[in-house]
Amino acid sequence: MSAIKHRVKRLTSQLEEVAQRGMDRHIRLGVTGISGAGKTAFITALVNQLLQAESHQLPAWQVMAQGRYLGGRIAPQPDLTLQPFDYTGAIACLQQAQPVWPPSTRNISEIRLALRYMPDKGLAGQIGRPVTLYLDIIDYPGEWLLDLPLMQQEYEQWCEQIWPQLQLPAWGELTESWCARAAALSTDATEADIAELAQEYASLLLTLKLQRGASLLQPGRALLPGELAGAPVLAWFPLPPEKLANLGEESSLRQTLMSRYQAYRDQVVTPFFRDYFARLDRQVVLVDCLSALNQGRDQVEQLAQTLQALSHSFRYGPGSMVTRLFRPKIDRVLFAATKADHLTVDQHHNLLQLMHSLMKSSRRQPRYFGTQMETLVLSAINATRQGQMERDGRTVSVVSGTDLSGAKSVRFPGEVPASLPGNGFWQEQGFSFQPFSPPGWDGQDALPHMRLDYALQFLIGDKMR
Ligand code: GDP
Repeated sequence: MSAIKHRVKRLTSQLEEVAQRGMDRHIRLGVTGISGAGKTAFITALVNQLLQAESHQLPAWQVMAQGRYLGGRIAPQPDLTLQPFDYTGAIACLQQAQPVWPPSTRNISEIRLALRYMPDKGLAGQIGRPVTLYLDIIDYPGEWLLDLPLMQQEYEQWCEQIWPQLQLPAWGELTESWCARAAALSTDATEADIAELAQEYASLLLTLKLQRGASLLQPGRALLPGELAGAPVLAWFPLPPEKLANLGEESSLRQTLMSRYQAYRDQVVTPFFRDYFARLDRQVVLVDCLSALNQGRDQVEQLAQTLQALSHSFRYGPGSMVTRLFRPKIDRVLFAATKADHLTVDQHHNLLQLMHSLMKSSRRQPRYFGTQMETLVLSAINATRQGQMERDGRTVSVVSGTDLSGAKSVRFPGEVPASLPGNGFWQEQGFSFQPFSPPGWDGQDALPHMRLDYALQFLIGDKMR
């Protein structure tokens, strides 16, 4: 009798194990945004919270608030062909006596976390045993996402679209000389001539980014080549459409540029979307509105166009370009305005409104196509403290922290506009949201943040019930 009992018990426990294994979950979360948006800081902070936060630090994350979160650990990376996200290195930067921000994202990388929790319902809840959610976080430059339209364009179409952009009045001073050289390029240009002009085109894009805040620039890997730095597949650039039309079919210049464009599209862009983007379940897009405001009206308009182009990537549905190319499965997208700790809390609502106004109608469309989209204002790592001080007989809200030179700094950051201000405003005044050093941190508690718990709830909360 006892032998039967024992066998029944063993069978039950095996069944439970199988059921439990079947209930272990897996989710692939993409984190993107134009360089400088805050991807490295965000992933570092998110991993840090998942590894060491206490419940009071993540009150809006339900599994934690309900006392069901048992803890997380870094698990072996599933895709051995990808660079690992350097969490340990990032933490070391933040823990120095004089902390520095960890190095920014330059390439695609990945980190896997195993998150243990007690389920609260269903079969798993009844079994009363912990379940593991495997969370793969994939970090990649937003610049690469902006290459998506290339998958449906031939070189001629791309030149027709890109060339007029290079002539924008606000960019003319910087682009004029490169455009003149491209227009004058001999039809029998040598490999060396092409390589040199391609290199200068990449430098031009970087200058446009740094000096004009341009972000809608192609090809994305000219700015962030990753492992392709120096490879011939990046040695191409646009030609003036009239020049291209006049080059004969057998022109070596035409043939070289076209074949490189095709190789880039088919061997670089397509595999990235097929192998990584199309396999994501959830996506975070980080947006740095404050740097754009610092730079001026043109830059904020560029950011608006970039945001709309990025949200286009999540627009799936009958007839959409993305659906025709592959079968993506991203069902939740979070657009998060970063670095909110630069502002006093009373300005967060305006920052959210500003991001909404820049996204325009693109904010609503994904929901229509079955993708849930959310927007949020957050700070991955608080580098400031909120406070108040007397100014001209009035009490004003301020933020205090350490500036990049290491000096203590108390700032009245001012107001954020809820929408793009008109021309007159920019002529009279501008914005100046200056960076802070990371906070001093001994690693005992999780890093200070704002609203990462809301981000977690939206991104994985439903998978941890
Ligand atoms: P990435 O290029 O998207 O990886 O951007 P990073 O994560 O490297 O962030 C770029 C810079 O933005 C950092 O070096 C910091 O100066 C700043 N930054 C990013 N996140 C935060 C944040 O949460 N708070 C503050 N104060 N600064 C941030």
